[in-house]
Amino acid sequence: MREYDIGFKVKVCSMAELEACDAELVGAAMRATETSYSPYSHFKVGAAIRLESGEIIMGSNQENASYPVGCCAERTALFWCGANRRDEVIKAIAIAACTRGKFTSDVTGPCGMCRQALLEVEHKQGSPIRLLLYGTNGIHIVDSIGSIVPFSFYSDSLSL
Ligand SMILES: [Zn+2]
Repeated sequence: MREYDIGFKVKVCSMAELEACDAELVGAAMRATETSYSPYSHFKVGAAIRLESGEIIMGSNQENASYPVGCCAERTALFWCGANRRDEVIKAIAIAACTRGKFTSDVTGPCGMCRQALLEVEHKQGSPIRLLLYGTNGIHIVDSIGSIVPFSFYSDSLSL
């Protein structure tokens, strides 16, 4: 028997320590929470995607009385990019969440389904998507989606 570690680095910083373009992206994710439709959870999530062109695409969670019909903020933004900017490389995604009028102190990471969706794009474009997670206690930065999806399932997994 043998064992091994699967580790990845996380940088933690304050808003003031972020580079200007990252601070802008996190700010966009925070603003995106304002467009959340979340009458059931009251948990407002905002996502902001930075394209290679510099453009920022925002998304927010959209709930439904039939719960599975809803969509997370990350996939709302990601699928908009797929439909409208399909040839552009995604450089980064920032995520912020608030509830009862306050941003969360801990960071909010993407759910498993969103990780899988982001991973597919990262794999398809052949370059990493940085992840910036906002919490009032600090911003956590990971250099690729693949890092947070160990033993991932790719299109290559379907070949025999
Ligand atoms: Zn999700």
